[in-house]
Amino acid sequence: MELLNTLMILGPALCLGAARPCLAQSGGPQAAEEVSAVVVYGDDKLVDGGDPLTDDRLQELLDSLCGLDPAPDDLIRDLQFYKRFRHMDDEGMTALIDSLFELEEVPYALVNEINLYTSQLPLQADVDRSAVLAWSPEVARPGAELYGEWITTRPNPYGPELSARDTLLQIKLVDDALNADFAMPVPPIVTSRFGWRDGRAHNGVDLDLEVMDPVRSAFPGVVRFAGVAGGFGRLVVVRHYNGLETYYAHLHRIKVQSGDVVDAGMMVGYGGSSGHSTGSHLHFETRFKGVPIDPSHIIDLTAGRLLCDTLVLKKTRWSYAAYPKGTRFHTVKEGEHLSAIAELYGTSLKSICQLNGLTPRSRLRVGQHLMVADLPDDPAGPASGRMAQVR
Ligand SMILES: [Zn+2]
Repeated sequence: MELLNTLMILGPALCLGAARPCLAQSGGPQAAEEVSAVVVYGDDKLVDGGDPLTDDRLQELLDSLCGLDPAPDDLIRDLQFYKRFRHMDDEGMTALIDSLFELEEVPYALVNEINLYTSQLPLQADVDRSAVLAWSPEVARPGAELYGEWITTRPNPYGPELSARDTLLQIKLVDDALNADFAMPVPPIVTSRFGWRDGRAHNGVDLDLEVMDPVRSAFPGVVRFAGVAGGFGRLVVVRHYNGLETYYAHLHRIKVQSGDVVDAGMMVGYGGSSGHSTGSHLHFETRFKGVPIDPSHIIDLTAGRLLCDTLVLKKTRWSYAAYPKGTRFHTVKEGEHLSAIAELYGTSLKSICQLNGLTPRSRLRVGQHLMVADLPDDPAGPASGRMAQVR
């Protein structure tokens, strides 16, 4: 039991648990030295001023894990990964990340987090100068200029070359003039967040539902894929007019076929538990050019509304860093805490927590990057419908 507790302690720091992966939240290899566990499993304190996670302690843990039968392979792999990552220079990091792409299942979520962690965030002027992908509702094949061929036989036929030349883009999520709106696919009850989970990438969010609950398209678009796809089970993929794609997985029944034009809020199927799923839920993904983007950087998943009308995507070496337009970035300094940071930017504690996957009790690290934006703060707002502006 003792060992299990210790593992729980390591969980968040190693991007394994329900918490947001830690790597995005460190300031650099030096800051990674200061990683301390953050309590995310209920209110239990797991490490209270406990021993720092030293190399010796890591090695001790690894040794004890390897002696278990069966050995928790994924956890051991992640511990070893983490141990190496802590001591790397840029070159080493690059090589290690490249090796992630050789895994059978590329951990895009982890890659995304590392991206945010290592990327130079753009200046406001860069954002202002960058191209905006406008809605183009006339076309029968949305995003053709971005994606080329319209492929209906596979959910994700895109390779990294598709996004290789991107730098900084903005994606309009809604457009009043075109009546392009947003709808929450199902009521916003998150059971699992985007990120590194049990040693694997979780490329979307899980939203609770009962079998046969309706599942709706988030934005207007055209169904590109509708069918059974491995672990996704019954899956619908919708290409939207701004180039985003949304995935609706584990469906019980599919009610559309590829080529169908859907509006925001139109039903694409009934929720269920098909594919690799334990219990009925919607596995919902947002992708751009095949690269998964954390839906919680687009949608307020507690209120079921958009966070912003325009999403900024910055291409990094391995994927995209995505955040609402107007987001600022704060680097945590010695002695700072969340509410003081919120005050500094004239925003709410809730907004900062939500955008960064933190709780008000989360421990911060010096050098950690926090996203700061004024998110809509109207709990009485509609569960789906018009978004609120982010300045
Ligand atoms: Zn899922």
